[in-house]
Amino acid sequence: MARVIEFGSNCEVPRTLRPSAAAARGLAYTEEVRRAVDHLYDEVKDFVTPMEWPEFAPLVHGICKLKAERNAVVLAHNYMTPDIFRLIGDFRGDSLQLAREAASVEADVIVQAGVHFMAETSKILSPNKTVLIPDTRAGCSLAASITGEDVKLIKAKYPGLPVVTYVNTTADVKAESDITCTSSNAVQVVEHVAKAWNVDKVILIPDEYLARNVAANTKIKIVTWHGRCEVHEQFSAADVAAIRDAHPGVIVLAHPECPPDVLQSADFAGSTSALAHYVKERSPNKVVLLTECSMSDNVAAENPGVEFVKPCNLCPHMKRISLETIYDALLEMKHVVEVDEATRVRAKRAIDAMLALPKTKQPLDFAIDRELAVLEVV
Ligand code: SF4
Repeated sequence: MARVIEFGSNCEVPRTLRPSAAAARGLAYTEEVRRAVDHLYDEVKDFVTPMEWPEFAPLVHGICKLKAERNAVVLAHNYMTPDIFRLIGDFRGDSLQLAREAASVEADVIVQAGVHFMAETSKILSPNKTVLIPDTRAGCSLAASITGEDVKLIKAKYPGLPVVTYVNTTADVKAESDITCTSSNAVQVVEHVAKAWNVDKVILIPDEYLARNVAANTKIKIVTWHGRCEVHEQFSAADVAAIRDAHPGVIVLAHPECPPDVLQSADFAGSTSALAHYVKERSPNKVVLLTECSMSDNVAAENPGVEFVKPCNLCPHMKRISLETIYDALLEMKHVVEVDEATRVRAKRAIDAMLALPKTKQPLDFAIDRELAVLEVV
């Protein structure tokens, strides 16, 4: 069993359902439920206590039944809590992995266990499927930082430059873009598009920190926007120093939405997939993942020999998704995500351009020892 040590005192991961969540929906921990889902308990035993399990099990069972009835799949992002990620996620991963699944999955219904822009991406790629977001308030500070109109203004200011847009954006922003990227492939996409357009400067929006970290990893000049992820911007180089002081020998892994000085003080940087891959391949004795809180729980469950230090920065939007909201969305087929057709077609072009790039054998990492590059922030 992996050991998880919480660092700091702000951890409020919803570890339990509301006491009446299953009963309020007419669901009970019956013999049928026990037979159907008790074998799954081991998957979440570090997150759900034996006393709590009778509250979780009926909802897990109810969701599995509804998925079969509706021919539905759940796409679960790495930042979901382990009860969602490990028990009901049919496909699990980062934005890029989930986008690829959404494009190819055989199902009538997709439930996006993630945030709204991810559900929009699924709808853009699968217009004939019904896409549900369990809670319509599950937004994103990056997606909220920029609009399609803003992108038009940026393009007018920098005519002739290709626009690379992070997938953490709304459909109308993607529709104004030439190609999308994720933190897994941002450097690859920037270099590809610069070569294809025969330019030495690229617009990469809206995450300023991702853009700064990309700029340090390429010779291509970058113009960016002042968007920030409200979770990753909270990490600082001082946090890294404090963690290293408290836990000598700890290996520090950082997500590229963190400020550049955090990456410079880390041992490795990459997307959530790259971080998970690092832990699996290298099995460090003790590790800290500088990213959203639930990621550590999910990676810990798959790496029992590794000790995790968990600095707890929660994404309030991701944490709106729960077994309860997933059950309710599937039961009532509610919170259907729609994207108007003209926007969808244009946004799809940008996503398809990214998906057409060759798949890398393993998730790419960011070099962490680079000088900070100068870039223009609009
Ligand atoms: S973790 Fe940051 S980038 Fe991801 S959904 Fe939350 S606010 Fe958006």
